[in-house]
Amino acid sequence: MTSLPGQNTSITDVAVVGGGIIGLAVAHALAHRGRQVTVIEGARIGERAAAGVAAGMLAPSSEVDLSDPRLTELALAAHAMYGQWTAALEAETGIDTGYDATGTLLVALHRDHLALIDHLHDFQRERGLAAERLTGKQARDEEPYLAPGIAGALRMPDAQVNPRSLLAALPVALVRAGATILEDTRITAIAPSDGGGYEVSTERDGVVSAIHATQVVVAAGAWSRQIASPIIGMPVVPLPMRPVKGEILRLRGERLIRHVVRTPDVYLVPRADGELVVGATMVELGFDARPTAGGVHDLLREARRAVPGIAELELAEVGVGFRPALRDHLPAIGHVDGDGLFVATGHFRNGVELAPITARLLAALMCGDQLDAGDAALLAPFAPDRFAPTTTQVSR
Ligand SMILES: Cc1cc2nc3c(=O)[nH]c(=O)nc-3n(C[C@H](O)[C@H](O)[C@H](O)COP(=O)(O)OP(=O)(O)OC[C@H]3O[C@@H](n4cnc5c(N)ncnc54)[C@H](O)[C@@H]3O)c2cc1C
Repeated sequence: MTSLPGQNTSITDVAVVGGGIIGLAVAHALAHRGRQVTVIEGARIGERAAAGVAAGMLAPSSEVDLSDPRLTELALAAHAMYGQWTAALEAETGIDTGYDATGTLLVALHRDHLALIDHLHDFQRERGLAAERLTGKQARDEEPYLAPGIAGALRMPDAQVNPRSLLAALPVALVRAGATILEDTRITAIAPSDGGGYEVSTERDGVVSAIHATQVVVAAGAWSRQIASPIIGMPVVPLPMRPVKGEILRLRGERLIRHVVRTPDVYLVPRADGELVVGATMVELGFDARPTAGGVHDLLREARRAVPGIAELELAEVGVGFRPALRDHLPAIGHVDGDGLFVATGHFRNGVELAPITARLLAALMCGDQLDAGDAALLAPFAPDRFAPTTTQVSR
């Protein structure tokens, strides 16, 4: 970023609005392509970002029945590049990202669950996804701390990463690559500039400034609608965005499991350092950041039914985050005005998983690459203009 002498304006090539996992990953991909990038984050990095609490499951197989097939395709593309992406990030920064491909066990605690996992297994086979059906005994041989009455399980090659480590590593890599990160700096408006590009208005501690950028990416998560609304002078696509609150727990102590363990009601994600993440609730209450007794109780009850030994662990943290959810629960990645304004938002329950593929595809688009047929097909369902108002013909 370059400051203009005597003015409260600076110049950058690309302004990225929002320093969550998506904004940081996109900025990182662009910086690696030689672009001069400025990330503008309204809080401290990680303070408000959903990835600051997220579990970090990379779970295209476990969630195939919950996902639109086009989202599963995108998740599988992310899955295929994840190990390499984190290894490169680790080499750049020396920070361990916690990428772990041990796998996931989806366990059935009773016969109803068993019917559900058999249904999921059929679905996985239909979609060509690898999964192995285990008996209760086989599951307990894998994970001896599972509850004795486990009725059966599915083993899937899903992976996990530590999102907090990614939020630590990406800024280090960005600064190394020459990018600028402005924290505690809120975007108040984005407007097209007379001579081309955009004027991004910012506010920090009551001081108002402007950044001139050739291209802008709105990656403000659940707040993206608030950013999109004051975009001045352009026919912007309205983003039907809402926050979906998630409560999530961090337990600490002896490591009880090696796999990510899920039931249809809860998940438990073990980290190498003894942290066990238990999540997560889905609550439609706007931006209400208060954790509830009921949420904590439900998570602990369900987690204890799967792995009774968790009762002995320390309850180290109760976290709350906001998943950015668009009306169709799919992300919006791409052009907004046919010029230099882009969005990358609405990643809902999968933003950690989809960060590297979102970054790769959006950076290619922003750098004017001709996407090959595979990438173009991967990205097409997530075009933001699917929310553009249409004129409805009413016949009487
Ligand atoms: C409990 C929970 C568990 C989850 N588990 C998983 C999981 O296991 N796997 C997975 O893949 N995903 C998971 N997710 C989802 C994932 O965390 C999100 O999809 C992802 O983090 C969204 O990232 P984002 O960068 O789009 O948005 P955010 O993380 O919301 O980041 C947006 C950033 O923009 C900033 N901002 C907002 N307004 C402004 C402004 N006006 N000016 C400047 N900056 C602004 C905010 O401060 C924020 O830091 C989970 C989410 C939750 C809540």
